[in-house]
Amino acid sequence: SGEALLTLIEEILDFSRIEAGKLDINEHEVELAPLIESVVELLAPRAQGKTLEIAAFIAPDLPPVIQTDGARLRQIVMNLAGNAVKFTGTGGVGLRVMKRGAMLAIVIEDTGPGIPAARLEAIFEEFEQADTHTANRHGGSGLGLAISRRLARLMGGDIEVESRVGLGSTFTLTLPLGEAGQAAPVLVQPYERKVLIVGAGPFEGRYLRDYFKASG
Ligand code: ADP
Repeated sequence: SGEALLTLIEEILDFSRIEAGKLDINEHEVELAPLIESVVELLAPRAQGKTLEIAAFIAPDLPPVIQTDGARLRQIVMNLAGNAVKFTGTGGVGLRVMKRGAMLAIVIEDTGPGIPAARLEAIFEEFEQADTHTANRHGGSGLGLAISRRLARLMGGDIEVESRVGLGSTFTLTLPLGEAGQAAPVLVQPYERKVLIVGAGPFEGRYLRDYFKASG
């Protein structure tokens, strides 16, 4: 109860700061992989408690360090991945981080209940939930996505969602890669070997395949 109340107070405070134009973005050099991995590690016990898979893929051609607000980036990823774990009953949650043109894209996929097309825009509004029945069961204020999208836009990016009811949802956070966003070219040496990957969850196998492909 204490944690739920603390989350609510923090969300209302964040929201008021954004409304008052008092929320500053502090850009500095942020190491991308440890940030994503720390979110996955934090959510892993919650996911495993529901026998959900949670996996991450970080594209090897990404710059290891980017210029952004690390605390706010972590807050957004935590909110999107936390929702995915919260609403998904079976299957899993995957975080895929890659380049999309000059932008960084963090794609959070789940095999949860999905969101009806008519509610896809509304869930980014304040105090809106896709349907009150499931939201009541899971708790939450309906502020998380409103705050996350506003933060993303303050940081020069955005959040989009695609979903199919019964199959799952995909939230994509895009952010500018910035000047620090230069990666050393990845040298790939083709091995010409075949690899068989067997996995029970929906994401880990695909992500491993992508790691193998990226390394030749
Ligand atoms: P909260 O989680 O506190 O209800 P959010 O703003 O984070 O508020 O989310 C708004 C609503 O969007 C949720 O109540 C839920 O109905 C829907 N939603 C968000 N993420 C997902 C998801 N991954 N799968 C299904 N529904 C989701």
